[in-house]
Amino acid sequence: MTARVRDPREIRHWHEAVDVLVVGLGAAGAAAALEAARAGVDTLVLERAGGGGGTSAMSGGVLYLGGGTALQKACGFDDSPEEMFKYLMASCGESPDEAKLRLYCEGSVAHYEWVVAQGVPFKEVYYHGVSGEPPTDDGLVWSGSERVHPFHQIARPAPRGHVPQLPNQAGPLLMRKLVAAVESSAARIAANHRCVALVQEPDGRVVGAVAEVFGEERALRARRGVILTTGGFINNEEMIAAHQPLVSRCSFRVGAEGDDGSGIRLGIAAGADAIHMDASSISLPVTQPWGLKRGILVNAQGQRFINEDAYYGRLGEAALFHNGGHAWLVVDDEVFERPDYPRDIAAVGGSPAELERELALPPGSLESTLALYNRHAERGDDPVFHKLPEYVRPLVAPPFGAFDCTTERSLYAAFTLGGLRSDPDGRVLDPDGQPIPGLFAAGRATSGLSVGGYSSGLSLGDGTFFGRRAGRSAAARS
Ligand SMILES: Cc1cc2nc3c(=O)[nH]c(=O)nc-3n(C[C@H](O)[C@H](O)[C@H](O)COP(=O)(O)OP(=O)(O)OC[C@H]3O[C@@H](n4cnc5c(N)ncnc54)[C@H](O)[C@@H]3O)c2cc1C
Repeated sequence: MTARVRDPREIRHWHEAVDVLVVGLGAAGAAAALEAARAGVDTLVLERAGGGGGTSAMSGGVLYLGGGTALQKACGFDDSPEEMFKYLMASCGESPDEAKLRLYCEGSVAHYEWVVAQGVPFKEVYYHGVSGEPPTDDGLVWSGSERVHPFHQIARPAPRGHVPQLPNQAGPLLMRKLVAAVESSAARIAANHRCVALVQEPDGRVVGAVAEVFGEERALRARRGVILTTGGFINNEEMIAAHQPLVSRCSFRVGAEGDDGSGIRLGIAAGADAIHMDASSISLPVTQPWGLKRGILVNAQGQRFINEDAYYGRLGEAALFHNGGHAWLVVDDEVFERPDYPRDIAAVGGSPAELERELALPPGSLESTLALYNRHAERGDDPVFHKLPEYVRPLVAPPFGAFDCTTERSLYAAFTLGGLRSDPDGRVLDPDGQPIPGLFAAGRATSGLSVGGYSSGLSLGDGTFFGRRAGRSAAARS
């Protein structure tokens, strides 16, 4: 294995010297490169693939933004940075980075304007009924758990999923526009350049990188800084097994080939801290269409474990991390609908008792869960998990069915949330919290805003917002 850190004295020939070297051209890398170039410094972007895009170009394109953006206002929704902050602080997992969240919420309105200024179009129409990318080209959706328990009591809800104007999957459009903006900026792009090492002075300063280009190494000097924007590590089996053994069980890995943790490992080799490496976004998209939120999710003990109207990213985390990936969505004949995403029916029964037997649940468990649920549902109530009344109705019409939501036999979509520890200016920190001079990072290569309890759009929002900040601070370093 080649060393991930090289001493500058080993470099016989620098092939090129620039001010800022950005490694990886996804959404975070594009944002970093644009801001560095616009600050007037010589900027080069290395991309291991034949062109930019990364996972960002495969994505739904949803950006989690708010605080009263022009799009929210045009669609008739009231929001404020404070309400957005309260929601994100409550929903983004245990101990999210408060300083980053604060800046993100305060800067969100201006960041939306910046995204629009890069040529990304948004149609000023709200789409009701999906949790994430809509089937139309409408611009605003709910993309988290803002409207439901317990968050609607903590912060005034507002839809914050900002979707570029392309039906179904807007990530390709977002990246076409961002890469085009980079191409027409002063920044240069070097495709087919895989960064394999950082160059670091013995005193800790990162002064360049080594890239492999068709089997040959090129040494690139970076006078002001190197910015790692290489994505997460969902496609690195070893890292997943070490940090997230439960996630190894998820069949659908949400990430391009480049999400192999290379940037995180380069940073660690240079002395960086990596945090929240056990955090993942786990989507269990079984309540799309929303009518299926009227079903109940039960575990291997036949017990409910969450309000089913929560965002499906929350359902997945609760099912996998807290219930061992044993879950079924139980519906009756009235509530039954085909889920939008493929999902098998695990069992059907003429009565709750028969369904329970078919699912091999403990005798009486599902029966009593349904009896309790139905007793309160008669009055539109859910005193146990506080599901919204619009999704609460008794499940009494046979036959009863259960959608398979077990991890091994159904669709769980997973990607990693942890990574390099960075400050709000994108400076990569060591385990003592000290910046490693000359080393910056953004996007999924870092531990981002959400460290659990994901809302859709936080990756692209976080990556572009803090990518821009990293680009500016690297450019400003003398
Ligand atoms: C199907 C799907 C839907 C999604 N929907 C959404 C959504 O709607 N909203 C949202 O916020 N998130 C969504 N996500 C998640 C989101 O797309 C990613 O988390 C996000 O794009 C990460 O951005 P990034 O810039 O950090 O990394 P990437 O976009 O992955 O970019 C990293 C780039 O670095 C390159 N690279 C990697 N290693 C090296 C190296 N050593 N040298 C040089 N180059 C390197 C890669 O080739 C890649 O081009 C979705 C993901 C998928 C797959």
